[in-house]
Amino acid sequence: MSDQPASNRRLLTPPAPHRPRSRTTQPLRSVASASQRVWLFDLDNTLHDCSAGIFNAIDQNMTEAVMEALQVDMGEAHRLRVKYWQRYGATVIGLVRHHGVDANIFLERSHRFDPAPLVHSERGLARKLLALKGRKILLTNAPLNYARAVLKVLGILQQFEGLWSVDHMALQGRIRPKPSKALMRQVLARIGQPAHNVVLVEDTLKNLKAARELGMKTVHVFHPGTPFSGLHAGRSAYVDLRVNSIGQLLTGRHIFRD
Ligand SMILES: [Mg+2]
Repeated sequence: MSDQPASNRRLLTPPAPHRPRSRTTQPLRSVASASQRVWLFDLDNTLHDCSAGIFNAIDQNMTEAVMEALQVDMGEAHRLRVKYWQRYGATVIGLVRHHGVDANIFLERSHRFDPAPLVHSERGLARKLLALKGRKILLTNAPLNYARAVLKVLGILQQFEGLWSVDHMALQGRIRPKPSKALMRQVLARIGQPAHNVVLVEDTLKNLKAARELGMKTVHVFHPGTPFSGLHAGRSAYVDLRVNSIGQLLTGRHIFRD
């Protein structure tokens, strides 16, 4: 991205996903050896329920961040947000591409709130996730600081061997969040497992579709608050398993045994 200001380079260079520091004495490798299966988990409306207030907080902060970054009023900020979200799938991409906004600063500003009082999840999430054998990696289009904070509140941060956030989703100078196949190929290369050993667990159907086209297995976590979440009772051809909770995934996971 030759038209990018130098201040954006930091975002464009870090391909390695974040690894949470483990507080346990057990090496992460021993967890991985229990199964070669790799679970890629989305965050929002997959591991926790955003409808109770987090999306409102992000919405408000993001509009304010656009107003500050571009020095525009609320109406114009809202118009641009919708425009770039529809065109690129993420407001930040439009701001970087058309206005030279520093993506890191914008993402930090748009998620500058304490998620702790707003995080809601199913009961026993940590226990259920622990019972799911295999490596677990987070793959979210949200910023790293926010993702870490939410996982911490959920009490599951240490179960993840790596966190892929939007901070890591830059390829050849462009931010490429899900459902970018280029991003997913990069994730697969890092994982070091063939695609059929990897399961993407997500509420957003277009991300599952892209994963399937690369040969991954897919779990649709149905959430009524997700745009285009698929209100029909059946599942799409590219969805292997459709669940309403991680508990249901635990029950239905046997279909992924080879
Ligand atoms: Mg989601």
